[in-house]
Amino acid sequence: SLSEKLQNVFKGLKGKGKLTEADVKLALKEVKMALLEADVNFKVVKNFIKSVEEKAIGQDVMSSLTPGQMVINIVNKEMVSLMGDEMTEISLKPSNEITVIMMCGLQGAGKTTTTAKLAGKFKQKGRKPLLVACDVYRPAAIKQLQVNGEKQGVSVFSMGDGHKPVNIAKAAIEHASKNDFNVVILDTAGRLHIDESMMEELMEIKQNVDVHQSILVVDAMTGQDAVNVSEMFNSKIGIDGVILTKLDGDTRGGAALSIRAVTGRPILYIGMGEKLSDLEQFYPDRMASRILGMGDILTLIEKAEAEIDETKARELDKKIRKAEFNFDDFLDQMEQMKKMGGIKDILGMLPGMGSQLKDVELDDNMFKGTEAIIRSMTKEERSNPAVINPSRKKRIAAGAGVDISEVNKLIKQFESSKKMMKQMSGMMSGKNMKRGKF
Ligand code: GDP
Ligand code: MG
Repeated sequence: SLSEKLQNVFKGLKGKGKLTEADVKLALKEVKMALLEADVNFKVVKNFIKSVEEKAIGQDVMSSLTPGQMVINIVNKEMVSLMGDEMTEISLKPSNEITVIMMCGLQGAGKTTTTAKLAGKFKQKGRKPLLVACDVYRPAAIKQLQVNGEKQGVSVFSMGDGHKPVNIAKAAIEHASKNDFNVVILDTAGRLHIDESMMEELMEIKQNVDVHQSILVVDAMTGQDAVNVSEMFNSKIGIDGVILTKLDGDTRGGAALSIRAVTGRPILYIGMGEKLSDLEQFYPDRMASRILGMGDILTLIEKAEAEIDETKARELDKKIRKAEFNFDDFLDQMEQMKKMGGIKDILGMLPGMGSQLKDVELDDNMFKGTEAIIRSMTKEERSNPAVINPSRKKRIAAGAGVDISEVNKLIKQFESSKKMMKQMSGMMSGKNMKRGKF
């Protein structure tokens, strides 16, 4: 996948003291290959690489970041800006007016499903949505909208298949104004390929009805095609935003990265599954970290901010940096992690850890034995683990009622988690400096 490839590129940069022009060029050559393989539009890739290169070369390596992290940082920021920087909300008129939204896209892209998903979002916002069956070519399509509407608890307007879509839309709006609906979502018909009659039908609706938003639904799994389809729809009928569906099945991320750059239109939502609740707001920064395989560091930081006592964290951070981290802190850290949620969840959010933890049995109970061992240590042993020699290990094991191998394992684990936390603190400090936290 794109994430894995990019991660390998960044790994190659590890352990280098300074980022040279040659390093940057070599890494970006590989980033370029990875993006092209992920089906990102080639023009987008070209501009992207150019702009990352300009920013990376000649920039001082920050002392708190490794060269690899520095390139990740720049690539990440460029990706976020490529996708539009900020989250974009669907524009709605005030509640006392009717907002008409026209859904369009190819057959099978997910229009009907997404129409019902959106209705749920509008309902949550206190709106009263009306779904309109304008796909008159497939009788099953009307039924599908009715079934989904019922699941969402929203009304569906249909006139069967004997009417023109534009007339159905007009009648629906009339019905909406008489019955106090304030969002009217038109579920239109698609074709397997872009064709004139589909475009004409959409244009006819647009010309005769006050369409406030034309939203294009595209299937992320079709990669470059999704981008071409977006460009075509935008130039023919004009779209206000895109909903990218089936991102749950797309491991490449190419469409997400290219659509905004090619069409100038924002991605509004992403479809993450077949269930009607599987529609998520699109956040460029979260998508970038997902594509980069940085886990969801943002979520991690948010969780940490919410749960961790900030002063404690600051102290801990200082200790980790000075490598003074000891078993007392380890106990503390375990407590914090328990508060933040499952250990596996937390570790899984760290870059590269997710795949490593896939087959590992990790649960919070596992730390019970650990706790017993640490509690059997003397004050001196806890604060200065270096003094723990074989005879001390024996005593600690006896005290905790475990085998000496358990004590050895813990000390090893402690050493490696010390390393991991050091990396983690380096990573997090980049974000935290920006946010002024920790
Ligand atoms: P339409 O022809 O554009 O109206 O497409 P439909 O709404 O009928 O969807 C086509 C298929 O894609 C259906 O089987 C949906 O369940 C499925 N689908 C729609 N959105 C998603 C999504 O975000 N993820 C997944 N996995 N499937 C989806
Ligand atoms: Mg449909």
